[in-house]
Amino acid sequence: MASAVNKLASQRHPLCQPPHLQLRALPPQRCWTPHLQLRALPLQPWTPPPAAARPPAAALEPLPAEALPSREMDMNNLSRSAACARQEEKAAALQEAQGVVRLVQVLCYCDPAWSLELLQRAAPTVERLELLYAREPHLRAVHAMPRLRRLRVYCDDDAVHAATPELGALPPGHSGLRWLHADHLPRATLQCLLQAHGGTLEELELVVGTPGKPSLPWPINCSDLHSLLGWCGLRALRRLVLWRGAHKGRACREQRAAVRAALPGVQVLCDVCDRVLGEEP
Ligand SMILES: [Zn+2]
Repeated sequence: MASAVNKLASQRHPLCQPPHLQLRALPPQRCWTPHLQLRALPLQPWTPPPAAARPPAAALEPLPAEALPSREMDMNNLSRSAACARQEEKAAALQEAQGVVRLVQVLCYCDPAWSLELLQRAAPTVERLELLYAREPHLRAVHAMPRLRRLRVYCDDDAVHAATPELGALPPGHSGLRWLHADHLPRATLQCLLQAHGGTLEELELVVGTPGKPSLPWPINCSDLHSLLGWCGLRALRRLVLWRGAHKGRACREQRAAVRAALPGVQVLCDVCDRVLGEEP
């Protein structure tokens, strides 16, 4: 895991802020399907405490989760800064993450070691999480979060074509996901995730295409969605929303009919055909 993190740390992603740009305010960005319209939910902005009061990261001691108030944190902007930037703010965020319940806009690529530690600090208490540009160490950290109920996860094409981590069964005591929005997860990883949460997952939002040219990659091209989902043991599922990029009406209808046959009793929707509004994690 450490080597994977170090390898990632040596790369710079276009979304990462180089140090000389770290004071520039970036507009909020969404990394998944461009047409996705999200239903706005109230989110209290997280404000870091004054830098002078923050201890360095190495000196932080874990605090008992029950001693901390529940709260939410939005890591947009801070998690887009490069590994060498904004060290005091990042140390403060690690401290703040202990006891967090809702953690959103965690971008893993720009500072992979810090974002991984952030997830580990949040793990005992976090129930709602948004993870962007996820890589294998981060996915494994998420898999071990015992209270996680709602997860939005986005991987980019590099992750799709790289190794596909198989996550295995949930650790003992895991409550299981109720809601999942999966965007460009490697196919094998998605299958592992669905199988692991098959007993509890009630709502699934999946960015996926219909059958297309064989040269097109997963998940843009998907000719066997009914088989993939049918094998995952989704015993609690009651609602499935298929999020489209390119959309072909006939192919969409045929795919949804096949999925309905494989998942009897599940409401199967398409965001284009059924004008579905997205949800926040
Ligand atoms: Zn459709």
